[in-house]
Amino acid sequence: MNGRSAHRFARLGIRRDADLPWHLPLRYEDETRLTPIGDLRLGGIAQVQGTIVRSEVVPRPRRMLVVQVEDDTGELSLRFLNFYGSQVAQLAVGRQLRAHGDVRGGLFGAEIVHPRYRMVGRDEPLPTRLTPVYPTVAGIGQATLRRAVLEAVEAATAPGALPETLLPGTAARLSLPPLADALRLLHQPPASEPLSALEDRTHPAWQRLAFEELLAQQLSLRRARAARAVQRADPLANTERVQALFAALPFTLTGAQQRAWAEVSADLAGAVPMNRLLQGDVGSGKTVVAALAALQAIGSGRQAAMMAPTEILAEQHWHKLRAWLEPLGVRIAWLTGSLRETEKKAVRARAAAGELDLLVGTHALVEESVSLPRLGLAIVDEQHRFGVAQRLALRAHRGESLPHQLMMSATPIPRTLAMSYYADLEVSVIDELPPGRTPVLTKLVTQARRAEVVERVRAAAQAGRQAYWVCPLIEESEALDLQTAIDAFEGLSVELEGVRVGLVHGRLTPAEKAATMASFTAGDIDVLVTTTVIEVGVDVPNASLMVIEHAERFGLAQLHQLRGRVGRGTAESVCVLLYRPPLSEGARERLKVMYETTDGFEIARRDLQLRGPGEFLGARQSGTALLRFADLERDAALVEAAREEATRMLATDPDRVTAHLERWLAGREEFLKA
Ligand code: ADP
Ligand code: MG
Repeated sequence: MNGRSAHRFARLGIRRDADLPWHLPLRYEDETRLTPIGDLRLGGIAQVQGTIVRSEVVPRPRRMLVVQVEDDTGELSLRFLNFYGSQVAQLAVGRQLRAHGDVRGGLFGAEIVHPRYRMVGRDEPLPTRLTPVYPTVAGIGQATLRRAVLEAVEAATAPGALPETLLPGTAARLSLPPLADALRLLHQPPASEPLSALEDRTHPAWQRLAFEELLAQQLSLRRARAARAVQRADPLANTERVQALFAALPFTLTGAQQRAWAEVSADLAGAVPMNRLLQGDVGSGKTVVAALAALQAIGSGRQAAMMAPTEILAEQHWHKLRAWLEPLGVRIAWLTGSLRETEKKAVRARAAAGELDLLVGTHALVEESVSLPRLGLAIVDEQHRFGVAQRLALRAHRGESLPHQLMMSATPIPRTLAMSYYADLEVSVIDELPPGRTPVLTKLVTQARRAEVVERVRAAAQAGRQAYWVCPLIEESEALDLQTAIDAFEGLSVELEGVRVGLVHGRLTPAEKAATMASFTAGDIDVLVTTTVIEVGVDVPNASLMVIEHAERFGLAQLHQLRGRVGRGTAESVCVLLYRPPLSEGARERLKVMYETTDGFEIARRDLQLRGPGEFLGARQSGTALLRFADLERDAALVEAAREEATRMLATDPDRVTAHLERWLAGREEFLKA
């Protein structure tokens, strides 16, 4: 692109002429038909053609141009509130015009305010194709854009310009048109094409583009995986210490944990760097699998690191892992940004000298110039909370060979999404909770009945049970967040006289947080008032009641994570979602989902439906912005087909793979960094 409007086009994602054909219409206008004026229905969009029988500039109630048009069946007013002198001359009595717009009931019968119009000859033929309306920005008129795009489409779809890159037979099998036909059709659909299929993108032409795009994504991710397969990691195969932990654990692994562990253990013993996602609902027991993995690495003479997204979580991992691993002779420490400088220094020194086997911490692990010269395994908990760069940075702490990587997530990723975005990852799923858990009962209660809920909390505390009281998130304001938690704490301390109430929030020092969490775990606090700092990973089995205030303000994933803090022991657990009516449509839907199911996968699926994949994965996930045409929910069947096509193409026709990727990824290499 050149010229003065280049920066405007850039805002539309159009940087080169070659980008223009891929700028697709938002919707279409049907200018292929004329409606006789006598048949016009108020409230609809229509196109009419007629002769101007009157044209005048009226001064009141405000200055405007009113043009009266007539055909054989009736009369219609066109009103222009803003107009040029040249228009007054153009819209002269006796001339023919064609006008398109919203028909409304005006003072003197049917009218169109600010119609789109064109002067025409009496027998001018109607267009045979729908008129595309493109997404645009200020400064680029629809007509200019349309002209530029259509010209580019002509060139791009000239015979031979878009050679087929799909394998022979694929397009026919999936009932997809050739790419050039699809593009031409989407930019200028014949009037006979079903408008609704075009606009909701289920039309085969749209499907062709979506399929091409999904295929490019699969191919690039698979190439990245192949590139990794030739990288070397040291095989870490010694399981002596692993056996020792098995012998010491107070429980046996669930079947799902055993399967996941077998997969992780086999990966570690291999010479290709592991890149595995361990997925399991909250409370499914991912930590022990991580501990076993760390032991296999340590037992094989290497260091391990585990990174968690919050201080509380890092500390809790540290406690738990210490209890399990120290008796087996593992040297373990933790590191977070808020430790005292002297402590950090000491930890760093031991890590660098190889005197530490396992280092647990927050992103401080990648930010505080930590050196782990013998790092053999990098574990990232709640991996979706980290950016790609942070995840990769942890693994970059390497000596001679690439460390293995284990990522964990409690955010269940729906199957189509996992296949699409994580084609580059191996995935293990823990789809079973440890025995002895009772499902959490969820209650929706309006704020008006808050006092009853407080009484319930009192009764629970008096019966020796513990409760969380979660305070609402105040938009983007940590300070306000904090204040509501403090207010709730002070209020509840008064309301719940005789009950021991504690408070934990993000601004406490790590020592304060740790002390509060320790007293809650020990049962010295009955009710813990908290901000969402407990969202991930906190594990206190005796806590069997949770109240979430202003639950309507939380997202589904967050509510599910929070609720997962209870129901960890054998007591019947209850989660009360307090909400303040009136509820927005989205909030009502979210609360309904929480009420209906505790299944993390089902919740994730509904969340995906409500929010769309981009938001679902979070802006920081790689690849999200890069699917322009495909929609993982709508085009789920195509994701499967694209995966199969990618497998066959890679196996049989590498030249096609290259041609396809060049077409789709030119200038978008970041796509490859999965
Ligand atoms: P998450 O997958 O959410 O990280 P955790 O690893 O924190 O879950 O496990 C939740 C709790 O379940 C912990 O107290 C853990 O020790 C316990 N646990 C894990 N596996 C088992 C098991 N197989 N049997 C009984 N308890 C288990
Ligand atoms: Mg966890």
